[in-house]
Amino acid sequence: IEQCRSILEDMRRDESVLLDTRRKDLDQHLNDLGILLAGSITTFMFLLAYSFLTLYREVIQRRQIEQGLLTSQASYEITVKNLSLIGEMTSLLQACSDSDESLRVISQFASRLLNTDSGTLYLFKESRNQIESKTHWGELARSEPVFQPDDCWALRRGEAHVLDNSHGSLACKHLHQPIEVSSLCMPIVAQGNVLGILHLENFGGRIIDGSEIDLTHNLAGQIALALASANLRDSLRSLSVRDPLTGLFNRRYMEESLKREVATAQRKNRPLGLAMLDIDHFKYFNDTFGHEAGDFLLREVGALFISKLRQGDVACRFGGEEFVMIYPEASPEVVVSRANQLRESIYAMQLQHFGHSLGQVTASFGLAFCPEHGDSGEQLLRAADIALYRAKENGRNRVEIAIKPTPEKLATT
Ligand code: GH3
Ligand code: MG
Ligand code: MG
Repeated sequence: IEQCRSILEDMRRDESVLLDTRRKDLDQHLNDLGILLAGSITTFMFLLAYSFLTLYREVIQRRQIEQGLLTSQASYEITVKNLSLIGEMTSLLQACSDSDESLRVISQFASRLLNTDSGTLYLFKESRNQIESKTHWGELARSEPVFQPDDCWALRRGEAHVLDNSHGSLACKHLHQPIEVSSLCMPIVAQGNVLGILHLENFGGRIIDGSEIDLTHNLAGQIALALASANLRDSLRSLSVRDPLTGLFNRRYMEESLKREVATAQRKNRPLGLAMLDIDHFKYFNDTFGHEAGDFLLREVGALFISKLRQGDVACRFGGEEFVMIYPEASPEVVVSRANQLRESIYAMQLQHFGHSLGQVTASFGLAFCPEHGDSGEQLLRAADIALYRAKENGRNRVEIAIKPTPEKLATT
């Protein structure tokens, strides 16, 4: 019994040790399981947060891309619209017949294209010593209408000049003081030749942004091309109707004008006068002072005629040292007085060529009137020519009026 009890006791101890060990194992397992569970939950939470963050970032990125696409689509649409407006303007400019029409087209399209408060197109005067406002759109510009090229930084440097607070740049002298505008001066350059500037202004602190500057640059380029081809067209047209030495109309143009003016005078029952004049002793003048001095005299006489001309009158170089003036709607008395004024002005000329006085210049005039001396351009020219011949015969430096043709003479002409 004692042995049995001891064995039982041993067994109980072993069992208790075993149970203890198993409990410890169980605790250990439970502990491990808890750690594993906590780790899994943390990892899960981390993964969840990470996925959420990634998703959120992606949504934001997608939204930004969509926004960017919308913006670039909008700017693409604006660019397409601007390009089509510039194209329309270019095609209209090519069809313009004179510079006034071209300027109207430019101001209309520039005001549609540009978003500035005011805009002005300045072009160089023919003398190129001044630049003047040719067309304007929007509000009144705070810039001089006419100024010296040196007063504009864009013209001095040959590149766009922006004035606003952020650039801290210098103001052009052609802007009115105090300077209260943001402005842009964009040179208009065709084949390396500066024709003028596009001057834009914004008021109330609104700056002219980069896209507006780019657009103005494109617009200035198209305006430059259009103006250069219009100038070329003008000079070609002028070559075909003007005498290159004096700048007066040529004989062909005068003959066409005379035909038209005679028809108008007859239709409206209005008077018309014709003066033919010839410089006296021009051959002697050439022989004495040289052919160049002769050309100089012809140019001066041409300039004198242009300065004395009334609007609607036509002055032409008929050939050599002979000139013809057409005076539409002028009575014989008016034509006689105008011819005498011209004769006196020629007589009063004090010409100097390379420091040498060219002496006294005179001219003789023959006048003919419609309908008294003919009812066609040819008849009037012939009558004036005969009267001019008489003025030469009667001593030169004088005005002679054509003699009324007899009915028989008219019938034979
Ligand atoms: P008159 O008083 O009778 O008109 O005499 P004139 O010497 O003016 O007339 P004439 O017809 O004898 O001479 C005209 C001269 O004009 C001859 C010609 O050489 C010259 N002439 C014609 N065209 C030009 C030109 O473009 N330049 C120059 N310098 N001379 C010209
Ligand atoms: Mg002659
Ligand atoms: Mg002569």
